[in-house]
Amino acid sequence: MNWINKIKKLGESIKKNINKKFPTKLERDSSAWTSCCKGPILKKELEENLFVCPHCNKHHRISPKQRFDIIFGKDNYEILKTPIPNDDPLEWSDTKSYKDRLKDARKKTNQDCAVIIAKGILNRIEVTVGATNFDFIGGSNGAAETEAIIYGVQHAIDNNTPFIFWPCGGGQRMFESPIALAGMTKTTLAINELKKNHLPYLVCFTDPTAGGITASFAMLGDIQFSEPGALIAFAGRRVVQATVKEELPPDFQTAEFLLKHGFVDRIVERKNLVSEIGLLLSILLKKNSEVNIEDNEQTSKLSIQTREAS
Ligand SMILES: [Zn+2]
Repeated sequence: MNWINKIKKLGESIKKNINKKFPTKLERDSSAWTSCCKGPILKKELEENLFVCPHCNKHHRISPKQRFDIIFGKDNYEILKTPIPNDDPLEWSDTKSYKDRLKDARKKTNQDCAVIIAKGILNRIEVTVGATNFDFIGGSNGAAETEAIIYGVQHAIDNNTPFIFWPCGGGQRMFESPIALAGMTKTTLAINELKKNHLPYLVCFTDPTAGGITASFAMLGDIQFSEPGALIAFAGRRVVQATVKEELPPDFQTAEFLLKHGFVDRIVERKNLVSEIGLLLSILLKKNSEVNIEDNEQTSKLSIQTREAS
């Protein structure tokens, strides 16, 4: 065997080992296993713990439907059909056409766009809710997502319900450039309409929420919750570092950092979110709470503070 064949054989062997160790994303998605701090963990085990790692408390990303199952109980809510504007108005194409990206994202998530709006009952209170799926083109916001959020707000106003949103995503969708940017103004105006109607608007940040999403509807909640450890930012860390030319703290742009600086009101673990939201809504809407606050130390504190304030 000459040296060229030897190198070729070595290359093939390395490639084989890498493929074995790091399977494709598709294989990882269909596997019963995922990974966290201690290495492999069964997806089923993670799901039983609300997709939160039992070892390091990492709140793993979940889809809107998984989120609503946790909030309302399995399939105990109604998904609302939201308008879908024309796909790909700019006929965008780079390494791949935007139409193909949309096709792939729809197949992967079984959603028409990144945002899902639903209605359900929480603590005996009818609520309109929305959430973003990060697996749909990074949770970015385009015309369809903007329309979905506006539809959710209008539904809340028409039915006199609070509006609760779980945002995530990298920002406005590049493939729809100016149309996506206009979505920042449109969603902000929609939230203003909600406030004019004196309806509560609660936001719960999930990891990661950035760019135009943070800079519009996601930062306008009456109460800003966050899941622990979520990245919440406008520009990326490196951009900020290069601008301010100062060393940034290690926890910069985390939910915990934002809590310290007043941009987040409360960090709530996924398991406590239903009782926290339920109690808050009953206070805001002056309804009797059905939540058992004895079981939840954090919520009890909140209740006591509220009573003292009143
Ligand atoms: Zn972990």
